[in-house]
Amino acid sequence: MKVALIGIGQAGGKVTERLARFDANMGFDAVQGALAVNSAEPDLHSLEFVDTQLIGADRVNGHGVGGDNELGTEIMQSDIQQVLGNLDGRVTSRAEAIFVIAGLGGGTGSGGAPVLVHHLKRVYDVPVYALGVLPGRNEGALYQANAGRSLKTLLREADSTLLIDNDSWHEQGESVEGAFETINEKIARRVGLLFASGEATEGVGESVVDSSEVINTLRSGGVSVLGYASEVASEDSAENIQVTMTVTRQALLTGTSMPAATAADSALVVIAGEPERIPRKGVERARRWVEDETDSMQVRGGDFPIESERLGALVLLGGAERSARLDEFMERAKTANETEARDPDENVDQLTDDRLENLF
Ligand code: GDP
Repeated sequence: MKVALIGIGQAGGKVTERLARFDANMGFDAVQGALAVNSAEPDLHSLEFVDTQLIGADRVNGHGVGGDNELGTEIMQSDIQQVLGNLDGRVTSRAEAIFVIAGLGGGTGSGGAPVLVHHLKRVYDVPVYALGVLPGRNEGALYQANAGRSLKTLLREADSTLLIDNDSWHEQGESVEGAFETINEKIARRVGLLFASGEATEGVGESVVDSSEVINTLRSGGVSVLGYASEVASEDSAENIQVTMTVTRQALLTGTSMPAATAADSALVVIAGEPERIPRKGVERARRWVEDETDSMQVRGGDFPIESERLGALVLLGGAERSARLDEFMERAKTANETEARDPDENVDQLTDDRLENLF
């Protein structure tokens, strides 16, 4: 799937850079253009692989918005024309989708991403997706409250919101901060493989996944979740049925970007590996297993031919908002929002009426 990427804020910029670099290093050519937008100038200086744009200089003078995501929203609204102008040529006629990428717990990305998604949808015909990073459980109340409002608004605006929980893709025992590098690397590889899976040029046949299958899976809207696992495989495909099942189970049960998200409206199972190693029977069996597990009638399946001695399973879930983990997060965000907003000048009764308001 040919994509244009726009990262907002610090996390958004770093993840966008990782994705663009992975795509270029692998020679996939799925990423058609990548832009990082921020109100904090130093964060933009550390990026080498993407174009950059400073916003809100008249308001915050390049110093960022701290954790104030309402200010992040205002700044993006004021500078939206410059950002859209800068995308001319990046969102070329070749891009099949646009991804707006942000950490939802901060300020610039949290507040700015939903505004940008809203405007992109008015301008472009291709789907506009959000890739949002949820704060880990141990991050403070402000992060939880910010992420709750940002997610609520993104769900209203974006064609689908792919969630990566910061508690998901890092090693046991690592602190969230220490794990950012690991998480960003995993996001780049996994989401980068998903983009590239529809771009396969060798061995193209009926069984090879194409971009429309990714887009159709995301058509369920709401929240999407991505799972991944891989294992060394035999050179003989007949011996790999079990491996295919194992990596698919692991991808869905322990390898998703949001823990314990298995119920979905739609799903896509991509088995990546050398064509000789991919067992047809295994792919079909894995697809049916995902159908049972997700309780969805719309499960697509296919191959991604790639040079590797391993077989990997990517499982993309669409319409996956019915998850205990997401309910738990939303509850935490609402509670945090009340604590954060309990200002003596404000009427608490009024706040509790709508525990989590949209950002705009
Ligand atoms: P902004 O620059 O104001 O948009 O704020 P940040 O991008 O720093 O957003 C803060 C949120 O993103 C927090 O929940 C952080 O845990 C998370 N975050 C910050 N940097 C990274 C990163 O490099 N990787 C990941 N996965 N999360 C990050």
